[in-house]
Amino acid sequence: MKNITAVFPGTFDPVTNGHLDIARRARDVFGRVTVLVIPNAGKNPLFTQEERVALLQEAFAEEPGITVCGAPGGLLADYVKERLPCVIVRGLRGAEDVPHEFCNAYYNATFCPQAETVFFPARPENLFLSASAVREAYSYGAGLPDCIPPAADRALRKKLAR
Ligand code: ADP
Repeated sequence: MKNITAVFPGTFDPVTNGHLDIARRARDVFGRVTVLVIPNAGKNPLFTQEERVALLQEAFAEEPGITVCGAPGGLLADYVKERLPCVIVRGLRGAEDVPHEFCNAYYNATFCPQAETVFFPARPENLFLSASAVREAYSYGAGLPDCIPPAADRALRKKLAR
């Protein structure tokens, strides 16, 4: 499987330890992985795309086989079509993630049938971890430094300083 490009797309607003774990495991299976920061019409991110890319790049700076990119826009399927053979990597924290993730996988397969979506189950310690819960905690002045990389902790404190 070492010649397959693995793409791990997401909002990463901001990167959490759950995202780090999925990216590393995808790299270990496929040899390398591209973590792709994509626009999501349904979300209004706290961090700009450039900031999210920079936080991911800092988190993975010392890690061979993991590349971080900002998507130029457009469909994810168009991005992966240009990089075949390719798999789309996503994480699953539990049953709540399934409808949304299967829906994405269905549409990505519709637009690019050659690219399979593969799911990695979240580690038990990350099951209740989400970027939205992290943002909410920091917005109330609480910190979760054990759940996110140090640069994300600093960036959240700066962005949400009261
Ligand atoms: P999106 O807006 O595309 O869902 P997210 O940044 O919220 O972007 O999530 C990107 C991917 O990472 C999704 O597949 C999501 O299920 C997965 N993910 C998010 N948090 C965790 C976690 N704690 N453990 C494992 N996977 C996670």
